[in-house]
Amino acid sequence: MDARFASIGGTGIGEGAALGRFHWLSARPSVRREEVQRTPEEEETRFRQAQARAGAALDALYAESRSAVGEDAAQIFAVHAMIAADEDFTDLVVARIGAGDTAETAVIAAADTLAARFREMEDEYLRARAADFADIAARLCDILDADGAGTGEPPLPDWPEPIILAAQDLSPSQTVGLDRSRIAGFVTGAGSPGSHTAILARSLGLPALVGAHLLDEMTARALEGRQVLLDAAAGRLTVDPTPEEQAAIRAREAAARAAEQARYALVDCPAETRAGKRILLCANIGLPSEAHEAAALGADGVGLMRSEFLYLGRVAPPGEEEQFTAYCTAAEALGDRMLVIRTLDIGADKQADYLGLPPEENPALGLRAIRLCLARRPLFRVQLRAICRAAGRRPGQIAVMFPMICAPHELDEAIAELREVQADLRRAGEPVDERMAVGMMIETPAAALLADTFAPRCAFFSIGSNDLTQYTLAVDRQNNAVAPLAVDAHPAVLTLIARTAAAIHAVGGWCGLCGELAADPTMTETLLAMGIDELSVSPSQLLRIKERVREIGELPQTETKEEPIWNTRFLPR
Ligand code: PEP
Ligand code: MG
Repeated sequence: MDARFASIGGTGIGEGAALGRFHWLSARPSVRREEVQRTPEEEETRFRQAQARAGAALDALYAESRSAVGEDAAQIFAVHAMIAADEDFTDLVVARIGAGDTAETAVIAAADTLAARFREMEDEYLRARAADFADIAARLCDILDADGAGTGEPPLPDWPEPIILAAQDLSPSQTVGLDRSRIAGFVTGAGSPGSHTAILARSLGLPALVGAHLLDEMTARALEGRQVLLDAAAGRLTVDPTPEEQAAIRAREAAARAAEQARYALVDCPAETRAGKRILLCANIGLPSEAHEAAALGADGVGLMRSEFLYLGRVAPPGEEEQFTAYCTAAEALGDRMLVIRTLDIGADKQADYLGLPPEENPALGLRAIRLCLARRPLFRVQLRAICRAAGRRPGQIAVMFPMICAPHELDEAIAELREVQADLRRAGEPVDERMAVGMMIETPAAALLADTFAPRCAFFSIGSNDLTQYTLAVDRQNNAVAPLAVDAHPAVLTLIARTAAAIHAVGGWCGLCGELAADPTMTETLLAMGIDELSVSPSQLLRIKERVREIGELPQTETKEEPIWNTRFLPR
């Protein structure tokens, strides 16, 4: 075989390994490989039928989302419907078909040509429309590929073996619709340990390789369908592994499974240190179905429901009823345990095309999370109504928290919107949980530095150490080139964490931590010593962290100003 492909290095996520067949998930619409011979007239008919179907689907989406989220958010579908029916676009496609292209190839080429034209335009709004052409092409190709029955979700190949899913960059919206039970591991050319591919892999307990060196479209095509061994501990993907390599990995995985099995004995034990300090050990989930697993693994509740996962991988936002059902389902699965729902955190690496957000130079510093919600009130209100109605059904169980708060007025505006929603529900005779806990995430240095100001307005804080690290250390969590600098146990980050915990304790509230730092067993003792009351981790990490908590004895004293306990490990000597 070509020596270039013998193995590919990268940053391993997790310690596991997996064998499977390599599948590349292209970000671009793909052209059907087994092409049937058709005349240009037949191809043109296929195109025109697909165009009509796409137009009808987009009109329906426009009408549906206009009543659910308002005119602004729905506009994108009207724009897409116009592009799909556009005369220039149609002429270009038909000309290419006349020159011998299939409908799929012609659609992609025409969309590329028009996108290039739009990219050159002066007007910022029109420049931003360039990206819409790829969306339209993908929609049309999906319909053409499935002879009209396309779903828009990237399909997995029909192989009996597990799949090692590879992509240049795997966005949450790409992964949310996939049949995860068939995936044995992830490989991405981009990404870093803080990226959402890494978070997803950890939450599924699957190995991953991010920032995979030399993984580009060309290499990937050569690897499609080949057997590969993904070893996260070694940070390596081996192509066509030898029988000896396979046997060694199988033995290692069996030993790891046995160790995990042994930890099951802890499921019903409390997360309590040997010295009797009890903390809450909760789970991070994306979809309501994951709440079952959290409960089965003995979590004290869900400390972070990333509600944006309900919004990804689809063509319109979920309506109020759908969200209400999702939140009730998650809460029911947890029995009487706590469910903390984080309001929509879209933006940065989590994009939903239907929102029609213009591309940003620095999306992590852009219109994300609470900023987007405060700018799109109808979208925010739909979610708040769903959360408040679910909380009304299950009083005392559901809490809400707001992400990416930087300034007090943002928290005030979010709470005011929540109170208005509750007042509306009360007027309509719906049950309202009058004491629903309201908290905020501490994800920016500004929030941590102003923790004293925020604390009296909150029942709790939950520290998002992934973003707090990114913003404190100026390290892009998506960029593998700077990943070694993203030390979430950096003294600057730990100082902010300690300050946050002290501020909320001073007003009688509690402090959680739900970033990846919570799942690092080497940091558990430090976090507990700094006053963290709740740790929220991926379900796959729950037992590991519980095991660690139960090993800890007396906690070190953190109040001594001269030598904070974290200094001994992380400050230069
Ligand atoms: C965080 O930033 O630590 C966090 C938990 O939120 P997310 O990873 O979804 O940005
Ligand atoms: Mg975050």
